[in-house]
This record gives sequence, C-alpha cells and structure tokens, in this order.
Amino acid sequence: MKKHNFYAGPSILDQSVIKETACAVLNFAGTGLSLLEVSHRSKEFDAVMTEANQLFKELLEIPEGYEVVFVGGGASMQFCMVPFNLLNKKAAYLDTGTWSSKAIKEAKLFGEVDVVASSKDKNYTYIPKNYTVPEDVDYFHYTSNNTIYGTEIRKDPDVKARLVCDMSSDIFSRPIDVSKYDIIYGGAQKNLAPAGVTFAIVRKDALGHVEREIPTMLKYTTHIDKGSMFNTPPVLPVYSALQTLKWYKEMGGVKAMQKLNEEKAAILYDAIDNSKLFVGTAEEDARSLMNVCFVMKDEYKELEAQFADFAIKERGMMGIKGHRSVGGFRASLYNAMPKSSVEALVACMKEFEQKH
Ligand SMILES: *Cc1c(COP(=O)(O)O)cnc(C)c1O
Repeated sequence: MKKHNFYAGPSILDQSVIKETACAVLNFAGTGLSLLEVSHRSKEFDAVMTEANQLFKELLEIPEGYEVVFVGGGASMQFCMVPFNLLNKKAAYLDTGTWSSKAIKEAKLFGEVDVVASSKDKNYTYIPKNYTVPEDVDYFHYTSNNTIYGTEIRKDPDVKARLVCDMSSDIFSRPIDVSKYDIIYGGAQKNLAPAGVTFAIVRKDALGHVEREIPTMLKYTTHIDKGSMFNTPPVLPVYSALQTLKWYKEMGGVKAMQKLNEEKAAILYDAIDNSKLFVGTAEEDARSLMNVCFVMKDEYKELEAQFADFAIKERGMMGIKGHRSVGGFRASLYNAMPKSSVEALVACMKEFEQKH
C-alpha cells in the first residue's frame, strides 16, 4: 500500500532529497567517506555550507545587510536567543498558539512583554485583528503559521517596530519581503530538512543594542562571523537542506511553491466544506495552507476513531491525527507534499463518507 506522509514535523521531504542524502551517507562528494564521518572542516563540506547559504539567500531574495545562520537547538532555542540578543526593556508579542505562548514565556525572562492580542479565548481558531503594536518596543514577535491549530498569517505585517517571526512551518511556502523583518527563524524539520538544524535570517544592524553579556553560543554574531562553523554544525541536516533548496530552485522557486500550495489546500478545504461528516476547525480567513485541521461534526463524533483507523491502516494516510489540543485530524501539506497525495486523502474521505 502506498503511504502518504501527512506528518506535521518532522515531515515529508522530496524523494530527490532523501535519495541524495542516502547516496552521500554512503559516499560523500566522491571522498570515499560517508557524510556521517567526514570533517565539517573538509573542503567538500565547506562547499555544502557555502552553497546552502547562497541558495537560501537567492530563493528568498534576501537583501544586503542580512546573514543566514544554521545552528542547533531548534526553533525552541530561538525563543530565548531572540530576546537575549534584542530585548532591552520591552517587547510585543502576538499570541496565536502554543508556539507563540512558549516564545512569550522565554521572553519574559529578559524584560517586559506586552501581549498585544491573543486568540486563546477560542482555542486559537482565529488570528486576532485590530491590535496595535506600540512603537517604543524593542521588537514585535509573531508566529506566521500555527502548526497545531492550522491558522496562518500570510501577509508580511506593517509595523514600525523591529519585526521578528517564527516561520518554522511555512518558510519557503511563498515569497516574503525580508526587508520588513529583523529576524526570521525556524526549525528546519517542516519545510527544509530532517530534524537537527535551525535557520535564522538576521539583519545585522539589529544586533549589538543590548547591554547584557550574551553567552558565546547564544550570540548571533558568533555564528555570523564564523559562517555557521563556530562549532560543529549538524552536518547531515545541512546537507539535506541544500538538496531541498536545489529542489526548490528546480521547481521554480517560492512563487511556484505558493501556487502549488494554494492548489493543494483548496482541494482539501473544498472537500471539507462540501462534506456531510467533516468540518474545519480554523476560521475561514485564518486558514493555513500548510496544516489543514478538521474534525467530525458533532452528530458524527463517534466516527472519528473509525475514520482514523480506516484512513491510516487501510489507505496509508500517515500522520493525519490531530494534535491532542485540537483533536480530530490534521493534514500537513508542506511544500514537498504532492498534489496526488492530497487527492488520495480526499478520495479516502469521500469513500468513508459514502459508507456511512
Ligand atoms: C515545530 C515548531 C516549533 C518547534 O520547533 P523545534 O525545532 O522542535 O524547537 C516552533 N514553532 C513552530 C511554528 C513550529 O511549527
């Protein structure tokens, strides 16, 4: 049975990325050594790091004055690295889900945090509107895609303050105006690479304005100055990230990805909206193109377990169970997800609906 990978993270990578990585695990760049055992200081790996950095900048059209770093620790470590490096007195945060809340918790260790709005009152099913970001804050932080709740902010916000965004689960899914941001960060395991590497796009002149001492490893300048090679970088995930970046370029870049993502999400949301059994959990104008969350309508709730069983065990729809804080189902349609898998899921939903 064909397996379709709807996992939320770590998640689907293009087959070419998996094959190239597998080959490099056996023989890396003709060295006769495995990628697993090669020095990160070798000229072959140095070339990988350099090319990954260049392609990252090219695909997102990152302007002068910014650097891209690859570090460890996950997006979760960025929750503290951002305030460590940027927060003097006060920062503003938008609370749109679990990941935003975790970022807020860390920022509070460094200064005053003004939560400008929150959608917690309705279990994060919408994106707050009509909030104002004070101008006197050191920065404004938001999460562009709420992986757990299936909501997304797809427009780069206009704010006067410095702008920081957690784009873990929608980076490279559409063009972004990087010049509006001071830091964009994310774990790579959703749209870029296997788990183990974290990216940060940093505006260099946003750094150096805090008075506190910053531990070497938590300072962006350390990693910028050493080209992400201050300490041993996660060699294999960086290699895979490069393969994904090459695949993005081949596919036509982020604009082409956006078109595909819009088509894929429309297929599934249409099926949900026209279904007798299923209903989406996120408000329509907040719907994510990356994570589609849905449940069974109240009168059919008892069929949820049965559908999960059928979809996963009999139709190979892997990873479609919703996060425990939402329940129901979540289909993650990251960049590497082919349209055919989305169509297969829709067919599986219709088949189940007909039987019941
Ligand atoms: C997965 C995820 C995180 C957590 O990433 P880690 O790399 O596991 O720390 C943070 N933010 C968002 C939006 C995510 O989707």
